[in-house]
Amino acid sequence: MNIANLLERTAKTYPDLPALAYGKDIVATYRDYADQAAGLAGALRGKLGLKAGDRVALIMKNHPEYWIALFAIWRAGLVAVPVNAKLHINEFCYILENSDSRLVFATAELADELVPLIPELPELETVISVHDESYQALKTEAPLELQEAAPDDLAWLFYTSGTTGKPKGAMISHRNLLTAVLSYFADVTALDPGDAVIHAAPQTHGAGMYGLPLIAKAGIQVTPLSGGFDPAETLELIAHYPNSCFFFAPTMIHRLISSPAFEGADTSNLKIIVYGGGPMYEADIRRAIDVLGPRFAQIYGQGESPMTITGLSMAQIRDENHPRRSEILASVGIERTDVEVKVFDADDNPLPVGEIGEIVVRGDVVMLGYWKNPEATAETLRGGWLHTGDMGCFDAEGFLTLKDRSKDMIISGGTNIYPREIEESLLTHAGVDEVSIVGRPHEDWGEEVVAFVVPRKGSAVTPEELDRHCIEQIARFKRPKEYFFVDELPKNNYGKVLKTELRERLGG
Ligand code: AMP
Repeated sequence: MNIANLLERTAKTYPDLPALAYGKDIVATYRDYADQAAGLAGALRGKLGLKAGDRVALIMKNHPEYWIALFAIWRAGLVAVPVNAKLHINEFCYILENSDSRLVFATAELADELVPLIPELPELETVISVHDESYQALKTEAPLELQEAAPDDLAWLFYTSGTTGKPKGAMISHRNLLTAVLSYFADVTALDPGDAVIHAAPQTHGAGMYGLPLIAKAGIQVTPLSGGFDPAETLELIAHYPNSCFFFAPTMIHRLISSPAFEGADTSNLKIIVYGGGPMYEADIRRAIDVLGPRFAQIYGQGESPMTITGLSMAQIRDENHPRRSEILASVGIERTDVEVKVFDADDNPLPVGEIGEIVVRGDVVMLGYWKNPEATAETLRGGWLHTGDMGCFDAEGFLTLKDRSKDMIISGGTNIYPREIEESLLTHAGVDEVSIVGRPHEDWGEEVVAFVVPRKGSAVTPEELDRHCIEQIARFKRPKEYFFVDELPKNNYGKVLKTELRERLGG
């Protein structure tokens, strides 16, 4: 099934329901949305001369046109290459070249930057600003029928965030996307017509995939006018849209509830915040539940297995009586309905409960491989399992706890130290707002533990106090040997803390 069928179906049953909104304004009903996508699909395969399987990049700040262009691309049997708008021009260039994209849809200011690339990139023919009248005209071309797509046909090239090395294009098929959508309903939440997803995180990344279940169920895709995450605006949109749903990186939840605008804001419309993409600390989720109620679900996934590896359901997050509540909240939940998840040792043998190894996953949501990169594909999908590069362990009840990515693990005096445990502990200190632990090269020990701490406003917390706090909670050898107090932690566009940058600051 072509994933664009989700829109086709919904538009038949609910043509007059709102589909796309910009801030508080509804800009398209499902009828408008489907008609415009069909017209644009007609232009792509007609006037613009693209053929089945060609790649079309979307380099756009969050904008409602993203949803029209994305479904036009799929409807036309083409492959979408969504690219984070905040990347550097050299990264755009790399991704456009690597994907052999023939056409780019861009928001106006980005289109100006991208047009000069056309002579440099042999495959790239056209850059279209979605703010131009000529683009609007394309949507009124003769509509194209929904094109056939086999389950394993490529739908989305998902470029990894490339925190190490060049980004790789994870090949996501129509089957992968459909499986991700179905498992949202199986594990995350049911949805009804009129529910709204507010896109405060970049739509071009995993967060954007959260739009698909809403299209399947006649919900509204809301793009904030700021195109991103502004806590005050987000709170206003929650007050406006009944049953508002979000995908947030954990650091965004932290910013939302710490924002001055949060005081007295009406959040009764909030249906669910799905969080993932980075570690959620126990102290932070407890605070978020206190102030927003238990309206959260967690997912652990990666571009290579979109939205889906494990999850912590709303019911599990709500279960205050679980005897191991702390461990459950600090975990990433249980295997999702549609996948098998295991923990392997370095030789790809399954490890028993409690032992830490690499998390691997198998199922219909796992990518086809990396685009034009057979070596990386063979390595990552060896034995039929997606090797996630994440370290973790299962408990006897099936809850998976993530340790750190292997490159973030600290080896001191031959012992493995997982930064997450120290971070969890420091975050329970009232004077600590955010923290990140990294290894610093050390002559005798190989590495030693150091902490970057953002103190809570108005607190004058000292290294001695934090040291005492750690001694009470964790093994002595894991205590940070030095504390650096900083105003903020460096984060990438997805809100992930950049440990590489912290290590660079240490000259490591
Ligand atoms: P990306 O492919 O850019 O979405 O990054 C995926 C990576 O983010 C995973 O491999 C994990 O390292 C991390 N990640 C995703 N979800 C979670 C989560 N719920 N808790 C901790 N880390 C996560």
